[in-house]
Amino acid sequence: MILLDGKKTANDIKNEIAIKVASLVAGGGKKPHLAAILVGSDGASETYVNAKVKACNKVGFDSTLVRFNADVSEEELLAEVKKINNNSDIDGLIVQLPLPAHIDEMKVTETINPIKDVDGFHPANIGRMALNLPTYLPATPAGILELLERYKIETSGKHCVVIGRSHIVGSPMSILMARNNNPGNCTVTLTHSRTQNLKEITKTADILIVALGKAEFVTTDMVKDGVCIIDVGITRVKSDKTKSGWKLLGDVAFDEVSKKSSFITPVPGGVGPMTIAMLLKNTLVATAKLLY
Ligand code: NAP
Repeated sequence: MILLDGKKTANDIKNEIAIKVASLVAGGGKKPHLAAILVGSDGASETYVNAKVKACNKVGFDSTLVRFNADVSEEELLAEVKKINNNSDIDGLIVQLPLPAHIDEMKVTETINPIKDVDGFHPANIGRMALNLPTYLPATPAGILELLERYKIETSGKHCVVIGRSHIVGSPMSILMARNNNPGNCTVTLTHSRTQNLKEITKTADILIVALGKAEFVTTDMVKDGVCIIDVGITRVKSDKTKSGWKLLGDVAFDEVSKKSSFITPVPGGVGPMTIAMLLKNTLVATAKLLY
C-alpha cells in the first residue's frame, strides 16, 4: 500500500509556486492578489479562510480578506463582488461557502467575473471544464487529479466510482475522470444517496473517490483488492486521545481498508492540503492571464 501524501505534495506545489512568483516579481510583474469574502463567523469557514490567507502569504501573494456580518444583505454582498470584479489589482476572488440562508449562493457565484473565479464554481467555468477547455478547475477535484498524476497512477480504462454528487466535489470529479485526458479516460459511475446496491458497485471500482461526509462509511467488504482510494471526507469527532479533544475522520475506515488498497489518501493529510495548493495555482494562472 502506498500512502498518497497530500501534505508533502501540497508543500512541493507551494514551493514551485513561490519560485514562480519570485521570478514574476523579479521580472517586473505584479504579485498575484487573491481576495476572499467571508460572511458570518462560522468556525469551519473561519478556519478555511484563514488557512487560505496564510497560504497566500507563504508563497508571496498579496491577499485581501473582506468580512461581513451574517446579516449582510444580498445586495451589499453583490455590490462588494462587483467592486472586486472591477479592481484591476485583484486577480482572483473567492466567496467562502456556505452563505447564510437569506443569500442566494448561485446568484453570488454568477456575479463573480469568470476571469477571477479561481474556485472554478461559475457556470461558465464548469461548462468549460465539461467541454475539456482550459479553465479554473474546482480546487478539491483539481487536487485529486494532481495527486493521481504526481503518483503516476494509471487511470485510463479503469472503472472509477465516485460516491457523492455535490457541485464542489463529486459531480466535477466524475466529469474530470471521464474526460479524454490524463488523468482521466475512466469509465465512471457516479453514486449518491438514492443509489441502490452501492456495495455491489464499489466492489468493482479500480479507483474509488469518496465524498459523502459520513465518517468511516466505506468498509473493507465494500472494496476489492488493489483498489486506489481517494478519501475526501472530513468529519470532526470527539477523542480522548488528542490534546484538543477532537480528531478528524475520513469517509473511509482507513485502518481496515488500507490493507486492501494499492494507494490511499489519509485523513488528515491527504486531499485537504491539496485543495489550498490548487487554489493558489488557479490564482497564479489568473495573474498570468493564461486562460482568458
Ligand atoms: P455534500 O454536499 O454534503 O454532498 C454529499 C453527497 O453524498 C450527496 O451527493 C449525497 O447524495 C451523497 N450521499 C449521502 N449519503 C449517501 C449514502 N449513504 N450513499 C451514497 N451517497 C450518499 O458533500 P460535499 O460538500 O461534497 O462534502 C463531502 C465531504 O467532503 C464532507 O465531509 C466535506 O467536509 C468534505 N470536503 C473536503 C474537502 C477537502 O478539501 N478535503 C473539500 C470539500 C468537502 P444526495 O445528492 O442524493 O443527497
